[in-house]
Amino acid sequence: MVRENEIRDNEVAVEPPTASDAGLTFIGRISTPWTSRMETPRQGRHDGPLCRIEIFDPWVPALTGVEAFERLEILYWLDRSRRDLVLQSPASNGKVHGTFSLRSPVRPNPIGTSIVKLEAVEGAVLLVRGLDCLDGTPLLDLKPDRTLFKPIAPPQPGDFQTGDGGT
Ligand code: SAM
Repeated sequence: MVRENEIRDNEVAVEPPTASDAGLTFIGRISTPWTSRMETPRQGRHDGPLCRIEIFDPWVPALTGVEAFERLEILYWLDRSRRDLVLQSPASNGKVHGTFSLRSPVRPNPIGTSIVKLEAVEGAVLLVRGLDCLDGTPLLDLKPDRTLFKPIAPPQPGDFQTGDGGT
């Protein structure tokens, strides 16, 4: 599968284990113009349509300071994805690729990430551009774009460590 839930030529599905290793809390909901996977962008673009990220209580105070960042990294749960393919054929041509060599929404833990352009913060709502998810997609997390973020806590020895000496 990739666009809808069909299996394509040479794709391989497995019987996934019961999902139980991590418990996640949806902290918000994303509103976008897209209601069909056939129309959703494969990757968002910073000149794309305005999308709305609503943060649920009690997490709204956690938005304090986000307005300082021009770009945010958004993590979301691709809730309408199948999760059982190990080999996928994105082009539907029989040529398959390992799931972990793709950014397909079909993966054992269907987490999507996008770097978005922050346009406005309006209380519990962020207005952003650059998403590629269906309307109603659950929000997992958001954080500053790593290239814009400087750690506030003092450095630790590992921050200066380079080269060999790993395990
Ligand atoms: N930018 C993210 C990434 O790289 O991790 C996601 C990329 S993924 C290729 C984007 C595609 O996922 C969309 O084109 C759509 O087909 C699919 N998709 C979007 N929202 C989804 C959802 N809530 N459930 C299942 N599939 C979704």
